[in-house]
Amino acid sequence: MDMGLKGKVAVVTGGSVGIGLAIAEGFAQEGVHLVLAARNEERVMAKAAEIAGKYGVKAVGVATDVSKADDITRLVGRAEAEFGGADILINNAGTGSEETIMDAPDERWQYYWDLHVMSTVRLARGIVPFMRQRGGGVILNNASICATQPLWYEPIYNTTKAALVMLSKTMAGEFIKDNIRVNVVNPGLVLTPDWVKTATILTEGKDQTPMEYLDKIAKDNAPIGRFASPEEIANLFVFLASPRASYAVGSTYYIDGGWLRVIT
Ligand code: NDP
Repeated sequence: MDMGLKGKVAVVTGGSVGIGLAIAEGFAQEGVHLVLAARNEERVMAKAAEIAGKYGVKAVGVATDVSKADDITRLVGRAEAEFGGADILINNAGTGSEETIMDAPDERWQYYWDLHVMSTVRLARGIVPFMRQRGGGVILNNASICATQPLWYEPIYNTTKAALVMLSKTMAGEFIKDNIRVNVVNPGLVLTPDWVKTATILTEGKDQTPMEYLDKIAKDNAPIGRFASPEEIANLFVFLASPRASYAVGSTYYIDGGWLRVIT
């Protein structure tokens, strides 16, 4: 199926590994040029070069900490210099937290607020003017099922991801008049290298392999009984970014193997 994305330009934060990398590859397969942003410069540059070589698109990697306003200004400047802006913005960079409300200091709350919420606000302020010039665009935010169904060990993650969902809704209302569609995706369990690393640490010296550990988490939580692959999540992002999803505005899309236990 032709997704109608050929020649578009996408900025993907956290595009060097995991879900963000899978989204970047999904776009590249459709002929989308890429600006990938992540903190580890070597990795993000290497992945951009790899994708450019494999799919014949133009792809640049930009060392960026999206929790920092100055870094975002630099990232937007790079998108302008390379492509005159962008048609698609994927706010994907993020990470889990682990704390209690009683013990976490203000600085920790502030960091995750900047990482999950302010990065999205700042990138919109930077990229939306270019989308307007191009006659429209798409912004997709990667939140989490935890925005609705909390995991008790990560209150800051739950709270900032819930804020990201509301931000997406209000952005959608403000931007649709410029033909810019905003939506948010809430994944469940997605098997990224980070999950494998955590499982390896937690099962070290135990009578359980990392994959058995992960399999149990999936079977205990997701009715489908397994993790998603990053590519399964990326497919939804590529569809939502495409003209085939032209009436999708301001919605929250769960992709969680049935893990969400309520209707919304
Ligand atoms: P990974 O840890 O596999 O990758 C995270 C990516 O984000 C990397 O490219 C990392 O690169 C980048 N990143 C992290 N912090 C920053 C930062 N401050 N500035 C710029 N880039 C940053 O994550 P996942 O693929 O698992 O997760 C991607 C998104 O999906 C996250 O927002 C996460 O909350 C969400 N999600 C993940 C789920 C899962 O099960 N995996 C489930 C639900 C939601 P670098 O370290 O070089 O900066």
